[in-house]
Amino acid sequence: MSLRLMAVHPHPDDETIATGGTLARYVAEGAEVVLVTCTLGEVGEISDPALASPENLSQVRAAELAAACAILGVREHHVLGYRDSGMAGTPDNDHPASFHRADLDEAAGRLVALIRRFRPQVVVGDNEHGTYGHPDHIKANRVTVAAFHAAGDPARYPEHGLDPWQPLKLYFTAVPRSRFAAMAPRMAELGLPVPEQRPDTVERPFGTPDELVTTALDVSAYAPTKHRALHAHRTQLGTLGFFTAIPLEHWPEFFGTEYFQRVACLVSAPDREHDLFAGLRSSI
Ligand SMILES: [Zn+2]
Repeated sequence: MSLRLMAVHPHPDDETIATGGTLARYVAEGAEVVLVTCTLGEVGEISDPALASPENLSQVRAAELAAACAILGVREHHVLGYRDSGMAGTPDNDHPASFHRADLDEAAGRLVALIRRFRPQVVVGDNEHGTYGHPDHIKANRVTVAAFHAAGDPARYPEHGLDPWQPLKLYFTAVPRSRFAAMAPRMAELGLPVPEQRPDTVERPFGTPDELVTTALDVSAYAPTKHRALHAHRTQLGTLGFFTAIPLEHWPEFFGTEYFQRVACLVSAPDREHDLFAGLRSSI
């Protein structure tokens, strides 16, 4: 029996922020875990000019990603090869190599090739709002959904020369709205500095409506692993103030559960789950 999970994320650091505990837990439990990163975060922030320059940021972030994967235990990590599109409304959106501008079928084809090669039963991606509206997160959602539905169709992408493979469950990463809303008051209660709300989250309430969250995964044992992996993304620590403001001793409380919204399920599984492989373990 081989349980295989593929997580698709737009930038280096998203794998740890959204699914670090999940990836570490399933690796530790013996599942095959494959990470796909769509861009190398070429136009991300540089928290300390001693670490990188705009010219070499992609190489530095590739190395940070490799370090984070080593900490999480993820041995298979692949890039889709697009360029970071930057925040919505910035000129990088229109760069010809940007993920935002990439042809959807072409990008989905690259992911289909990886799905057919690694044959995951479970695929995890971003939600349809791109979590906080970043163009690359939205595009990662579109590409993941398209690839999930195309990978099993022999009429799609036959030029790859790979046998079709239909994954059985598709999830979007989620932060339940009630959990998110409780975080800042709890941080204040603990006397921790509460970061200002990011301007790009103001237009719509952040998080997934609680009733859409199907899956809560206990990753509390992996909170220290997630903490270390996050800190491997050294160039990004300036933008990750929400995480770095919380001392490690409180990580199990804040980040000890990772949540998901199940959006496709081709097997019988309970409406509310505590395992991404629920419904699959006996049939594989
Ligand atoms: Zn991102």
